[in-house]
Amino acid sequence: MTTSPIAHFNGQLMPLDRISISPLDRGFIFGDGVYEVIPVYGGAPLRAREHFERLQRSMDEIRLKNPHTVEEWVRLTEELLKHHPGNQSVYIQVTRGAPPKRDHVIPRDLAPTVFMMANPLASPSREQIANGVACVTAQDFRWEKCHIKSTSLLGNVLARQISADVGATETILLRDGRLTEASASNVFVVKNGVVAAAPRDNLILLGITYDLLVRLAEEGAIKLEVRPISESEVRSADEIWLTSSTKEVLAVTTLDGEPVGGGKPGPLFKRMHALFQEHKAQARKARVAA
Ligand code: PMP
Repeated sequence: MTTSPIAHFNGQLMPLDRISISPLDRGFIFGDGVYEVIPVYGGAPLRAREHFERLQRSMDEIRLKNPHTVEEWVRLTEELLKHHPGNQSVYIQVTRGAPPKRDHVIPRDLAPTVFMMANPLASPSREQIANGVACVTAQDFRWEKCHIKSTSLLGNVLARQISADVGATETILLRDGRLTEASASNVFVVKNGVVAAAPRDNLILLGITYDLLVRLAEEGAIKLEVRPISESEVRSADEIWLTSSTKEVLAVTTLDGEPVGGGKPGPLFKRMHALFQEHKAQARKARVAA
């Protein structure tokens, strides 16, 4: 008999297979909810506070009252993690809840549905770090509120499938001739020793990893600009990187079948990857010592 992993549902820890959710839940009916994914290394969540602050911003954007304070979320995460040692990714979802009938209009005073689970963290392989990954480009056909970490992910799902169909790792998205992000990652480009990232606006999800990279670049004296990036800059970049809580930072070495720069992870990627690993190790040590 295999035992079902322990998850969190509306304030209680219970086996995942014992959780049942109403078909009228607005998360199911409308994708009316928000979520977070937090990476955990050796039991220590990385940048948990920042993730819960972003959860708050997503809730504010969809007019959903947060059922918990940041401190409560941190405690609930720690309780869940007692059942999931080691490297994990914690998934947190809050939907607007289950009203008695289907109606687009947002109901008043509905209790939200809270769900949390932990899964073993699938970090990039040595091979992916050493050789980089393949990506393809596509038009960004999503809506104009990509800054909300919403569970309405059909646009991202369809975008991701474009790369999955050709065995590539990500789909890099272009809107009106400019780089936005990828289906589940942020994108950085490097030219002549300068890193560039797309603006922090409504057309991208502002990654916790994006912000961490900006900080690490500053600390490591790597030049980084946040500004609009044209499609031709993407296609002529010396290096392209993907970032996310599960991918960390990964080099893109082919784009639409063409090599990026020399077709190998570049020198700035190697520096940033090392800075990132150092940051992870320090964050873990600080937590063990605390
Ligand atoms: N953009 C999108 C569309 C994403 O889904 C993600 C991953 N959640 C990111 C960017 C990266 O965000 P983070 O670094 O917080 O994981």
